[in-house]
Amino acid sequence: MFAIAKTKATRGIWSAAPQHPGTPARGMVTVDVMAAGICGTDYHIYNWDSWSAGRVPTPMVIGHEFVGHISAIGEGVSGYALGDRVSAECHIACGTCHACRTGNAHICENTSIIGVDRPGAFAEQVEVPAANLWRVPDAIPDVHAAVFDPVGNAMHMVATAKVTAKHVLIVGGGPIGLFAAAIAKAHGARSVTVQEPNSARADIARSLGLDLVVDPRDPANRARILTLTEGRGPEVILEVSGNGAALNAALDIAAPGAVVALLGIPSGPVELDLGAKVVMKGISLLGITGRRMYETWYQVEAFMLKHPDLMDKVITHVLPAIDFHRGFELMDEGSCGKIVLDFRQIEQRLSA
Ligand code: NAD
Ligand code: ZN
Repeated sequence: MFAIAKTKATRGIWSAAPQHPGTPARGMVTVDVMAAGICGTDYHIYNWDSWSAGRVPTPMVIGHEFVGHISAIGEGVSGYALGDRVSAECHIACGTCHACRTGNAHICENTSIIGVDRPGAFAEQVEVPAANLWRVPDAIPDVHAAVFDPVGNAMHMVATAKVTAKHVLIVGGGPIGLFAAAIAKAHGARSVTVQEPNSARADIARSLGLDLVVDPRDPANRARILTLTEGRGPEVILEVSGNGAALNAALDIAAPGAVVALLGIPSGPVELDLGAKVVMKGISLLGITGRRMYETWYQVEAFMLKHPDLMDKVITHVLPAIDFHRGFELMDEGSCGKIVLDFRQIEQRLSA
């Protein structure tokens, strides 16, 4: 079958022809992939940074944000039928560790990730545990359903930080920051500001009807943010850039008692004056990873049903899956919001 894989332990990504998954194992299903989103994690694996080189065995079919139709069902699976349209949580939690048994499977210490630790969804077919499936309502189109996972990252962050009636600053307008901005607005934030240096992404943020979009290099920002936030500074900061300097600047402008949720992953250790910037200001720092299983998925479904227009604004490119190289080039250029690969016509296109 056609697949997109890390076949060599060096920068790049290639097409591959692995075997179809075959009869699913007990508790598993096979999904015929219709559409799949390119995640920042896929881009890390493409770049073969130190994290991916240390974690991902090659060859590995990548991709973990997807929607498709169930085409085979393993023994012991109930509640699903052939043809059901599904997405799936890509974190396969162990179910037995302390985190899993206390309702926190998103921080399971034994997590295996689809497209990182086991064959992924950038393929005609992917095998996943039935326990991880999410049935998609007909009203949500494939292109939106393909990105339940990153919208879930954004949703988990916004819901955990509790933005209603708060002045919110989002640091980083990549796909997850943009989804977070749209969700924060929908959740009744008093104001939403996005800080993003890339002009193409800043333009996408502006299209979401936010209160303020700023460039971190502009010295006038501080005054503009303080004016918007009634002189207090943002009461909620969502850090989605992974940039340590940006986090430091955000803590400087944070209102006393602010909640600062950290989702961006810095490339290395970050230096922080904890005493002055966190302790003495009474700041709450929240680490955010994955999505709550499955509370976040219900929240994302509701958001997608209510705000398809906002989904369309953040998803800027839908490319035929065989043009995947173009998708990674667009991420190199940063001239994109979310990119979705369309696998629907893959067989016809390959034989054309
Ligand atoms: P991305 O890299 O596309 O977006 C980051 C954005 O931050 C970019 O648009 C970049 O221009 C911007 N940026 C850089 N410097 C900035 C500054 N000084 N101020 C403001 N913005 C700045 O990534 P993404 O896919 O949107 O993901 C965001 C982050 O979240 C990444 O670090 C990613 O690795 C991480 N991530 C975390 C999880 C998790 O579970 N915690 C899951 C997925 C992704
Ligand atoms: Zn576990």
